[in-house]
Amino acid sequence: MQTAFLSLGTNLGDRLANMNAMLGSCEKLFVDKVRHSPLYETDPVGTSAEHMPYLNRIIAGEFDGIVADLLACCQSIEISLGRQQSEKGKVLPRQADIDILLFGNEIISDEILTVPHPAILGRRFCIEGIAAIDADIIHPIYLKTFRQLFTEMSQEIKRQKIFIVD
Ligand code: ADP
Ligand code: MG
Repeated sequence: MQTAFLSLGTNLGDRLANMNAMLGSCEKLFVDKVRHSPLYETDPVGTSAEHMPYLNRIIAGEFDGIVADLLACCQSIEISLGRQQSEKGKVLPRQADIDILLFGNEIISDEILTVPHPAILGRRFCIEGIAAIDADIIHPIYLKTFRQLFTEMSQEIKRQKIFIVD
């Protein structure tokens, strides 16, 4: 059993309905109750400014299986919500994007999976969302708690706009 942190995101279609559907489906993947961050509205990072803002939420739960199984489950939830395959190198708006941010203390880097997710430290909502769930969680590469990573967030990251929706 491992504690997994997932990032849920949507910036296409009925974003609130997509988010609630993702949350409902993800809750079924985990043993016991899932913990979650507030719901955030965030500007897209690293894509065209024409893209709609995202709704994002971080969730955490206990997963009874290996990380490859969790990825497969996340991808089938994305597809069930209408997600189309992105063209290589092109980020399109999407109904559902589920990324595995942390999987216990596992460090994985292969063609299919990079865990911890390399974008965590570049996205304010990821740092704040993980810290909101459990600020004592340690990033297995940087060996710092998310409380520390939150305190040390750079001005550049702090400039990313995030609004708490609920
Ligand atoms: P992104 O989320 O980076 O915008 P996609 O959602 O289109 O891109 O995912 C592309 C690929 O990223 C997936 O097919 C998956 O194999 C890979 N990937 C690598 N690491 C992770 C991770 N930690 N969580 C989710 N997907 C990952
Ligand atoms: Mg993704």
